[in-house]
Amino acid sequence: MSQDEKECIFCKIVAGDLPTNKLFENDWVVAFADIAPKAPQHVLVVPKKHIANLNEIDDADRDLLANLMFSVRDVARKLGIGDAYQVKIYSGEKAGQSVFHLHIHVIGGWEKAQHH
Ligand code: 5GP
Ligand code: ZN
Repeated sequence: MSQDEKECIFCKIVAGDLPTNKLFENDWVVAFADIAPKAPQHVLVVPKKHIANLNEIDDADRDLLANLMFSVRDVARKLGIGDAYQVKIYSGEKAGQSVFHLHIHVIGGWEKAQHH
């Protein structure tokens, strides 16, 4: 395990070293609620493999990336927000990325059709 992974908060969640309510899990990904939700529903879908961000993906990650997107869909359905949700990925510190382990924000649960 690299130094990056040892210190990575999401690797710790994936490994079960940080107690977290996992909403969804398969061979490739884990999904859990964001600790500081920006909407009524705010879940992070995270690959089990440590990848810092989209700039670090390579051809070997094709299956993983496809699985991530299907997982996003399944998580949204599971949350009951399959009809209206946002999917966000921040890549790079200046873009607002604060945890350098690839993750997809799944955001929704607004009562009315007024999204921010
Ligand atoms: P970023 O800005 O890197 O795309 O988002 C990182 C997200 O991870 C933030 O929305 C933040 O609230 C969330 N987060 C940071 N630390 C933890 C944690 O320990 N547990 C959970 N569940 N979410 C976290
Ligand atoms: Zn990691």
